[in-house]
Amino acid sequence: MVFLFFVFFLGTLIALLHHVNDDLPPKLLLVSFDGFRADYLQNYEFPHLQNFINEGVLVEHVKNVFITKTFPNHYSIVTGLYEESHGIVANSMYDVATKKHFSDSNDKDPFWWNEAVPIWVTNQLQGNRSSAAAMWPGTDVLIHNTTPSYFMNYNSAVSFEERLNNITMWLSNSNPPVTFATLYWEEPDASGHKYGPEDKENMRTVLKVIDDHIGYLVQKLKMLGLWENLNVIITSDHGMTQCSKERLINLDGCIDHTNYALIDASPVAAVLPKNERETEVYNQLKACDPHMNVYLKEDIPARFHYQHNDRIQPIILVADEGWTIVQNKTEPVLTLGDHGYDNSLPSMHPFLAAHGPAFHRGYKHSTVNIVDIYPMMCHILGLKPQPNNGTFGNTKCLL
Ligand SMILES: [Zn+2]
Repeated sequence: MVFLFFVFFLGTLIALLHHVNDDLPPKLLLVSFDGFRADYLQNYEFPHLQNFINEGVLVEHVKNVFITKTFPNHYSIVTGLYEESHGIVANSMYDVATKKHFSDSNDKDPFWWNEAVPIWVTNQLQGNRSSAAAMWPGTDVLIHNTTPSYFMNYNSAVSFEERLNNITMWLSNSNPPVTFATLYWEEPDASGHKYGPEDKENMRTVLKVIDDHIGYLVQKLKMLGLWENLNVIITSDHGMTQCSKERLINLDGCIDHTNYALIDASPVAAVLPKNERETEVYNQLKACDPHMNVYLKEDIPARFHYQHNDRIQPIILVADEGWTIVQNKTEPVLTLGDHGYDNSLPSMHPFLAAHGPAFHRGYKHSTVNIVDIYPMMCHILGLKPQPNNGTFGNTKCLL
């Protein structure tokens, strides 16, 4: 009798737990390892990341947006918009009308971000849910008067472990529950710049540390009972290519630098001509060096989706892969690796891996656009997406 009662009790309990699980809102953790070039996955060992992929999905190439820089692409991931539409068109910007400047160390003015609504804001406006963020670009800014309920002010000195510990704490016990969380880490971008992606030895070292971070992330989620019900996306903003001191484009050799302001330098230079000298400046730059393309704003190729925004300057210079634009040959070139180049170059592409109840297990896909990630995330979270440039049909196959 006691035994029967026990079985009945257990059955009820399991049914109840099941029911509770069904009622849990879907949750998503979005992780970015800055500058994780797609083919690192083929050329280096990632035992922890491979385990994650084996039980989930892999997209081998993510076609990112032009210019292939950090702030612009991180904002495209969370808005589904091209840069001309979300307004973060470079890591260094200047707005002629307001005379405002933007840089990666001066990024807190909502003015720059308010042309779009990122998913962490939408998530908090549609229902009784919170968002949480550990240093994803823009998450410490009041965008449309809102930050994530839980966030950290950007500080590159804070360790991966501390960022992750905050995220898992917020995912575990918050009311209203955190259903969207995001985590950013500066590597392998920093090492890619410093050593260049062809420096196998140094890249192997930093990529092993990243794989260990992924191992720690999975272990921690399992330990806290978050793993089974949480959807996790691991991706990046751009790749990296090898540069050289031998491949410099020297602007001072072609044009007097008092005739223009250089808003952003390399590999996509944003040029603001002075004193209505646009035609003269353009002609001088056009004849300057065969290793870069020079465009008037109205002639920027349509495939870049990089034209219709006041923050895009009247002339842009696009260096060929591996070439660096400098104003003066005596400028020290400190980086052996860079990104920002044409987004059709495979070396500029990151990858995407995902795991969780929303995703297939053991599924591989060749390519998606970075703007297609946003509508997929909205679908997973049950959010009505903001207008965007993505196509859910392109990422639906991962679910
Ligand atoms: Zn970088």
